[in-house]
Amino acid sequence: MSNSKIRSRKPVSIVTGGAGFLGSHLVDLLLERGHQVVAMDNLVTGNVENIAHHAGNPNFRFIQQDVTEYLFLDGPVDYVWHFASPASPVDYAKLPIQTLKVGSLGTHKTLGLARLKGAKFLLASTSEVYGDPLVHPQSEDYWGNVNPIGPRGCYDEAKRFAEALTMAYHRTHRLQTRIVRIFNTYGPRMRLNDGRVAPSFLEQALRGEALTVYGDGSQTRSFCYVSDLVEGVYRLMMGGDPYPVNIGNPEEMTILQFARKIIELTGSESPVVFRDLPVDDPKKRRPDIARARKLLQWEPVVGLEEGLRKTVEWFRERLGRRPG
Ligand code: UDP
Repeated sequence: MSNSKIRSRKPVSIVTGGAGFLGSHLVDLLLERGHQVVAMDNLVTGNVENIAHHAGNPNFRFIQQDVTEYLFLDGPVDYVWHFASPASPVDYAKLPIQTLKVGSLGTHKTLGLARLKGAKFLLASTSEVYGDPLVHPQSEDYWGNVNPIGPRGCYDEAKRFAEALTMAYHRTHRLQTRIVRIFNTYGPRMRLNDGRVAPSFLEQALRGEALTVYGDGSQTRSFCYVSDLVEGVYRLMMGGDPYPVNIGNPEEMTILQFARKIIELTGSESPVVFRDLPVDDPKKRRPDIARARKLLQWEPVVGLEEGLRKTVEWFRERLGRRPG
């Protein structure tokens, strides 16, 4: 596909997982930047409410489809963004086979589509490829410490396979490919019962229930606001190179500190309770984003308090609509 061809019409983007948390924010950004967007989702963890505001937009189409099945699309495609997958440890523990299939077969189908259409391909990979990391912070040249047969193996290994397949298509078929390793991200549209720490703590704090901190809460994470994340992803597709790039916020904190921050920002009187630490829960996680800074001139601009305030607002509104 030549640039002049794209210039004479709108670029066409396919977003798998387009009704999910990250996928739907990416759809918003692409429409804003003048793309025609086809969102695909089988709605296992996605929700049409996340894209309902685009109904009637002639530049937007939704196809309910499982991307592990054969993909058929008429017309040109310029960019394929493969975001379909359960992404919460609670979800992928419930859906281990679907998680393995979408990371393997789904990546194969979407790479095949990109190859057929001569499109550029971007894989949404994850900090989970580093497993319970022995190197801190994690830079892209670290190969990881993953338990293939543990409860997180279905997600971690599916994404590692997906990265390997993406590089094979790049090397064998000269496909233009990108791999983003996404670290913990939060923001509006996370499912209330998603099970990840931000929606869990927010729902608990807003309902006045105890915040369930797993283990002693000394494990760390680094939380990136969703608008920063999708900006980094967009820059990677448009610029960048085929090798993995970490996108995340390097501001690290313990889970107990995170719980206290949420209690403070919501003005909640909820206590904190401690629960068993899930098997293979990574002890530390923080992205080294030197590569993203240099390659993409990208770094997060939304601080934790600002991002959490916007997220709290959204959760408050959602919870107000549902009985407690
Ligand atoms: N966590 C917690 N309470 C919860 C949910 C999660 O303490 O109700 C912890 C979890 O054990 C992990 C961290 O929060 O250490 C982040 O968990 P999440 O499920 O968001 O994703 P992960 O980073 O583990 O993939």
